[in-house]
Amino acid sequence: KEENREGYVPLYNSFERFYMLYIYRRVRDCWNRPICSVPGAELTLKDRITPDYGWTFEFTGTQTRCLNLGSYNYLGFAAADGPCADDSAKMIEKRGLAYCSSRQELGTSFLHQDLEALTAKFLGTEDAIVFGMGFATNALNLPTLMSPGCLVLSDEKNHASIILGLRLSGATIKVFKHNNMKDLERVLRDALVYGQPKTGAPWKKMIICVEGVYSMEGSIVKLPEIVALKKKYKAYIYLDEAHSIGATGPHGRGIVDYYGLDPSDVDILMGTFTKSFGSAGGYIAGSKRLINFLRTNSHAHWYASSMSPPVAQQIFTSMSIILGLDGTNEGRRRIEQLARNTRYFRRRLAQIGVITYGHEDSPVIPLLVYLFSKIGAVVRTLTTRKIAVVGVGFPATPIMEGRIRFCLSAAHTKEQLDYALNVIDEISDKLGLKYSRKPRDPN
Ligand code: PMP
Repeated sequence: KEENREGYVPLYNSFERFYMLYIYRRVRDCWNRPICSVPGAELTLKDRITPDYGWTFEFTGTQTRCLNLGSYNYLGFAAADGPCADDSAKMIEKRGLAYCSSRQELGTSFLHQDLEALTAKFLGTEDAIVFGMGFATNALNLPTLMSPGCLVLSDEKNHASIILGLRLSGATIKVFKHNNMKDLERVLRDALVYGQPKTGAPWKKMIICVEGVYSMEGSIVKLPEIVALKKKYKAYIYLDEAHSIGATGPHGRGIVDYYGLDPSDVDILMGTFTKSFGSAGGYIAGSKRLINFLRTNSHAHWYASSMSPPVAQQIFTSMSIILGLDGTNEGRRRIEQLARNTRYFRRRLAQIGVITYGHEDSPVIPLLVYLFSKIGAVVRTLTTRKIAVVGVGFPATPIMEGRIRFCLSAAHTKEQLDYALNVIDEISDKLGLKYSRKPRDPN
């Protein structure tokens, strides 16, 4: 009604309404399903009442306990019990839930400062700064670092938070093909030869923006080659480690650790605490000069409320465990368990004959179902077999490349993985998931 009021421009554009109605409406129940537990190796989902998968559905009061192959709980630190939960509960008693102020005002505590020092130590950088939200770490710091006259070379599969940050910055964005070093070098060479459009003046600075592990592809960035290109063309690197920090590298220190590179080879190391640390927020790590610059210029530091105390404590405790500061081997054990689970699950999926994308060391495993209609069918079938997964389709993927995304965790046992693999084997014939076509290689 409001949209039809005289003089009003419609609030939503018609394309959005069109595809919400025709593409997603019948499978809406596959997303936004309320969860009623900690997202550990298992999680509890609310049940739905419309067994015929009709146009409408409602959630009932009943719940189902499922094996959780959908949350990014890579190291299993999202748990209702254990050292992280205990420390966070104590922190709530001591400090409450919020500082009710931004970092610059009355929102900085020793906890934040200690966490920043620990993050820098963990990553092997001079300094680090933490923020209350991972998405905002990208969306609000990229505009601080980039401005019109700068050139960004952005991987075509970069996350929405990076794209938003780059657009806000006003810098020129050139997109290169996913993980394709030839294409990246072509764009870099052109940038150097032709300079800025119209004037031909050299670019103020050039930044290559990439991710460690790509969450829709399960691919791993070719960092050594990018470091070589950055040095050759005098560019900088911005690396988003949301899915790789904790989850890759022999010490869990992400992609730099995975390839055994020097952390100073990457100018701006960004990551989030929402995955491997089972918490919330994000960080940027690098040289002292870079971090001081962000402390004085970042909108996310100046104008957003600081990270909540129990959230910071959860990160502090889990990071200390990964670093072995608790005096046990628990961190190492979790990292190795995740690597074992990942390789096992990928190998068994290949034996079953379904198509997956990505690198063998990536704990994000996309199973290709291609057709849009199959995303809903697989999510629903797996849910009835008590397995929770995430279906991903257009616009997050190309329209004919719908997929089911499995996220492995150190918390999964072999029995749990075997159960899931047996169910996938069983349903893949019925739902036609054993495609004979050769997958493209996103690596
Ligand atoms: N970067 C990447 C690559 C991501 O995948 C995500 C979200 N999954 C974010 C940033 C945003 O982080 P957060 O969810 O912690 O806000």
